[in-house]
Amino acid sequence: MLIPLVLCALAAPPALSTTAGAEKVRDRALSGGSVAVEVLQSLTSEIGGRPVGSPAMTRAKDWAVKKLTALGFQNVHVEDFTKKDAWLRGPEAASMTAPYGLPLSFSGLGKSAPTPPGGIEADVAVFRSLEELKAAAPGSLAGRIALVNQPMTRTQSGEGYGSAVAVRGAGPSLAAARGAVAFLTRSIATGPGRAPHTGATHYDDDVPRIPAAALGVADADLVMRLAAQGPVRVSLSMSSTLIENAPAWNVVGEVPCRANPKAGTIVIGGHLDSWDPGQGAVDDGAGVAITIAAAKLLAEGPPLKRNVRVVLFGSEETGGSGEAYALAHAAEVPQLVLAAESDSGAGPLYRLALPKGVAADPALFGLATALAPLRIFITDDVAEHGGSDMEGLMDAGVPIVEFDADASRYFDIHHSADDTFDKVERADLEQSVAGWAVLLSFLANSALDLRPHVDAVASKP
Ligand SMILES: [Zn+2]
Repeated sequence: MLIPLVLCALAAPPALSTTAGAEKVRDRALSGGSVAVEVLQSLTSEIGGRPVGSPAMTRAKDWAVKKLTALGFQNVHVEDFTKKDAWLRGPEAASMTAPYGLPLSFSGLGKSAPTPPGGIEADVAVFRSLEELKAAAPGSLAGRIALVNQPMTRTQSGEGYGSAVAVRGAGPSLAAARGAVAFLTRSIATGPGRAPHTGATHYDDDVPRIPAAALGVADADLVMRLAAQGPVRVSLSMSSTLIENAPAWNVVGEVPCRANPKAGTIVIGGHLDSWDPGQGAVDDGAGVAITIAAAKLLAEGPPLKRNVRVVLFGSEETGGSGEAYALAHAAEVPQLVLAAESDSGAGPLYRLALPKGVAADPALFGLATALAPLRIFITDDVAEHGGSDMEGLMDAGVPIVEFDADASRYFDIHHSADDTFDKVERADLEQSVAGWAVLLSFLANSALDLRPHVDAVASKP
């Protein structure tokens, strides 16, 4: 075991310090030397939106194999799993029918039940928040469509999403429990745009599964204003297909430590699936492009002391790919050094959270210096979430980091038809690649063991 590690070190060209090496890949990314823009343009243009279970997702899987291979990744392969109840949107339409006729900008929520044949038409009951809906009496919404028009707060961290998205998840069953025949939410979005924002919902077992959809922000506001003056009536028609057992895939490529393939492995990646209305550019074509590009920059430098593995997850939006990956790699967990997903947009990055106490480790001396010109700081907060697809590995004890992008504008377009390639700023994407490449450069060229720090977190009271 030791000999190949020594060979790895011997194979390296004359010593660049770790910081200098990291600064080199950083500056290469910043000067346009990364493939991120090309990868993102290719994915969003050639494949487009790619929900799990769709023909587009099959093409995305083939695209990923071809792209990783063409970029020189090693051990490129596909790991199959089965996605239960893959949901695909069918034709849908909504309009206001009183006080006057108006087509509405709306989008069925992922996993929504369809409307009965012929659709649903009913008066709308408007609530300003989920709290107000919860306060409605049982039976008070009988025969009506509930609309919750709760705005989302814009923040750099994206934390406004948490309370807003609860409307999308919990709203349909809360409304059904009070007798509603359908549920509408204001789009979970920060922007004023008219395009609706979709996303997954879920149903409680003990209430009817009523159709659920998002209205564009402008239309939700309009319905609320009109409802304050008198009855508003809405007609909805929604269809969808549930594929009970859909084939799904995680696609993998590696930059191996050639002298010692059994060296520890760093797992990074993004999710290849996306919602259907847009092109899945910021969510999460960006994460796919950023992690591929960062790993490739490292592959172009001196040999690594650890393997870097890029995993493109195949079902994040409605779940399943992270669980499948953790299950398939349970025996490998002791060799996994780190798990981190890029799934907070196309940048710029601004904050890195590490496991407790890690920032002070001598192996990371220079990390803060290399990140500072990118306007990325290392927070004292401990990393708690390495991305949805890394939860299974995290639960198994694999250390995580949180690399957060500025989410101030992310929720203006996320999950909507406006999530398209043209919204991505080249400089922000390249800054993100630079940030990831710096972090990888430190971790893939050291023997730093993050696990003791994870244990320190786990044993916290
Ligand atoms: Zn995502």
